[in-house]
This record gives sequence, structure tokens and C-alpha cells, in this order.
Amino acid sequence: MKVPGALIHTLSQPVTDAGARRYARVTSGMLPATRDDRPMALVTTSWDDGHPYDLRLASLLATYQVAGTFYVPSSYSKRPLMEDSQLRDLIGMNMEIGSHTDTHPVLTKLPPHEIWRELRESRERLEQRLGLAVPSFCYPKGKFNRAARKLIAPAGYRLARTTVAFRTELDFDPARMPVSCQCAPQSRAIRLRHALREGNLRGLRNWSRWFGLESEFASLARLMFDRVLRQGGVFHLWGHSWELEEGGLWSACEDVLRYIARRPGVAYVTNGGVMEARAEPRK
Ligand SMILES: [Zn+2]
Repeated sequence: MKVPGALIHTLSQPVTDAGARRYARVTSGMLPATRDDRPMALVTTSWDDGHPYDLRLASLLATYQVAGTFYVPSSYSKRPLMEDSQLRDLIGMNMEIGSHTDTHPVLTKLPPHEIWRELRESRERLEQRLGLAVPSFCYPKGKFNRAARKLIAPAGYRLARTTVAFRTELDFDPARMPVSCQCAPQSRAIRLRHALREGNLRGLRNWSRWFGLESEFASLARLMFDRVLRQGGVFHLWGHSWELEEGGLWSACEDVLRYIARRPGVAYVTNGGVMEARAEPRK
């Protein structure tokens, strides 16, 4: 299944010679026509852990013309991982493959040389297997520290996605790419605890001021998307396909996709596409 070309996606160019890592550029012609005074509105999604249910999820995203980045451990995870042919199927649906380390460890428990190995080897393994550059990374369990953050760019990544929630701004630190909300039910107390643990005061302020401390995820997603429509920025939905399956959340996820899809003036991009779009001068 092909996603129509109106989508911005930054699937990487094939790696044709050693060390040559180039990225497809977003041409400004692919950005939706907007008035000069209207801020850029982006939608991106990301999905962690490389479970074979990602194929079902990618088909769902493609149906709604919403782009996604799938973060995959390159060697080991306690859950099943997709085969190379399945990763290629995702790429064929215009989705992006990102690294989720080599063995899905909690990076904050590792010494810097082990963090470096996880970052570097996972990127190189995925690039070798897929023949594509892999410039996007996601921290396992959302855990990162200063040591990990500082190694992101030297290890060859342009972004590292976190689980820092309730955020829609485009001017984020690339080594700490925030998200808006997870496609999973969470109580208000859990959301609060998570945000406090991450020191996410900006997110807490957004959640309280703009989104009424909404905790039901589909309602929160709609409120956050509506704000991006009005104010610009990026709406970033994330989750796990295995969690959609285990929690019976497929139809709730589809409801959210239906709501955010095919809106005029909104660009639907991969995580890598967010970096491309924000670097693109506005016309
Ligand atoms: Zn994970």
C-alpha cells in the first residue's frame, strides 16, 4: 500500500557508498499552502519496539495518510521483532525506521562506553540491513541522562525521541524530542508522576493551562491536535502496537487518526520529517 505523495516523508536515500549518508530533502513545494501569517502545523507519529503488529499499525496509518516512525531494537528485545522483509514493507508504506538501541536496555543504567555501543552499533546494523541511513533514535523506556544526550549527535543521529509529554513546540532540543500524548490509557496520577519524574514543567503547565488536565487519551489527543491547528507546532502521537493489541485499543487509535487526518494546511510527517520541515524556510 502506498501513501499518496502529498505526504512529506524523509525516507533516507540508499547508502550508495561507505560513509555517504544523505537524506531526502523536503521540498517546500510539498509543504501545504498556508498564509504567511499562519504558523506551521505538523502531525507526526512514532511507535516503539519493532513488534510485528507494527505492520497492522502502518497499514492503518497509511489508510489515513498519516506518517510514522517505527523505532526498532537492532538485535534483541524481550518481545518479538520484525524480520528485515517486514521492515522493508514498512518502508514501502513510506514509513521511517529509527533505532531503538541494539538490545533495548535502560541507557541510564549503563556506563558511557556501553551507551555509545548501543547507539552506534544499532544505527550501523540497521543501515547495513536496510541499505538506508537511520538518522532517528528513541530512548528505551524514555530514559535518558546527560551522558546519553551528549552522544546522540556524535553517534550519527539527528534526533532522539523522548516520552516527555504534553508538548507541541517545534523549537525543541533535537536530543530531547518531546511528544504530545501516548495512544494508551493512563490515569491523571500516573501522567502527573511521569511528568514530575522527567522535570517536565513546561508540559505540566501546558496540560493544566490548555488541556484542562484531561487524562482520557483520545480526548487529550483531540485537544492537543486542535491547539496545533490553531497555534501551529507539532502534534506528536506515540505508542506501541503490541500495547494496542493487548489493550484492545485499535479502534480507539483509529478514532484519533480519523480525527487528525486529511486536514487542510497540516503536513503529515515522519519524526525525521519534523526536523526537515522546521529547517525549511517558509515561503
Ligand atoms: Zn521500547
